[in-house]
Amino acid sequence: MQILFASSHSHDPDVWINPLRKALPYLEFVQWDENGDSINAELAIVWNPPTQIFEREKNLRAVFNLGAGVDAILQRPGLTDKVAIYRLEDAGMAVQMAEYATWALLRASRNFDAYQQQQQQKNWQRLPDIQRDAWPVGVLGLGVMGSRVAQTLAGFDYPVAGWSRSAKQLDGVETWAGDEQFSGFLSRTRVLINTLPLTSETHSILCRKTFEQLLPGACIINMGRGEHLVEQDLLAMLDEGHIQQATLDVFAQEPLPADHPFWAHPGVTVTPHMSAASLRDVTIRQTAEKVRAFIAGEPVSGLVERNRGY
Ligand code: NAP
Repeated sequence: MQILFASSHSHDPDVWINPLRKALPYLEFVQWDENGDSINAELAIVWNPPTQIFEREKNLRAVFNLGAGVDAILQRPGLTDKVAIYRLEDAGMAVQMAEYATWALLRASRNFDAYQQQQQQKNWQRLPDIQRDAWPVGVLGLGVMGSRVAQTLAGFDYPVAGWSRSAKQLDGVETWAGDEQFSGFLSRTRVLINTLPLTSETHSILCRKTFEQLLPGACIINMGRGEHLVEQDLLAMLDEGHIQQATLDVFAQEPLPADHPFWAHPGVTVTPHMSAASLRDVTIRQTAEKVRAFIAGEPVSGLVERNRGY
């Protein structure tokens, strides 16, 4: 049986295909050829796949994504309901997201940015001690990523809440769910951390109406997708002072254009979509196991529910 490999990762595809071949020796791996014809593949392993993948490969039964977010796949034309989409689950990413969120929070809550500036001026001066109650954290999304982020920060004794679509219970974390509880969640939150998937419901969720409900001196940490954020609203509310700082890892346009105002804004920290990289070895192991189970007719975890978009 042939399996199509279509990844827009810029690096050498063989570093993925060779170990996948070893793990699944009974499959013939065929790399996507931009100018080629259909290979009538039933299975595909992809990351940010080519636009025409579903229009060319009409026999696909299952697509295995080398990442957690499937928004790019769901936007490809020609995708039908008969294609099952499986996503990566954790693969070393959740702990990295927790690290990133911790770094971004501590810079503000422990004055580390301010101390860095003081060092430039050779200024030895202790700033006021931390008041943890002044830093209530709210995590958007309590899935694989968000729950790890929330529990990590709760472990540092910050007051942490999380918001998800369905009701959840998480040790040490106050949980809120659904649209009707969104305002209550926001109004107790100062540090808003986004780990949501990008869907029609979550697009532009980080907007003025959301930001206005946060506590003053708010901090925004976006690790979801760039399209969650209404950029002009963030810039305006930073300039108005309601938002103190924003740490952004994902952008509507990546790479972020050189003339984008985020680069030079004193309240914005930009990182190049690196908050959580899927680790190659564990990704390959997990993906190979999903493909094996699918072919064997066994249950496969990580199935994307198409009606909810994640
Ligand atoms: P997940 O396990 O599917 O969790 C998604 C969470 O979001 C769930 O708690 C879900 O609620 C909640 N949610 C979805 N739609 C919602 C809505 N309309 N209202 C309220 N809550 C909603 O996904 P994950 O593995 O944690 O990954 C989440 C996202 O992180 C990915 O889709 C991707 O965009 C992003 N990501 C970014 C990077 C990076 O490097 N920046 C790396 C990995 C992932 P329920 O629990 O009720 O279903």
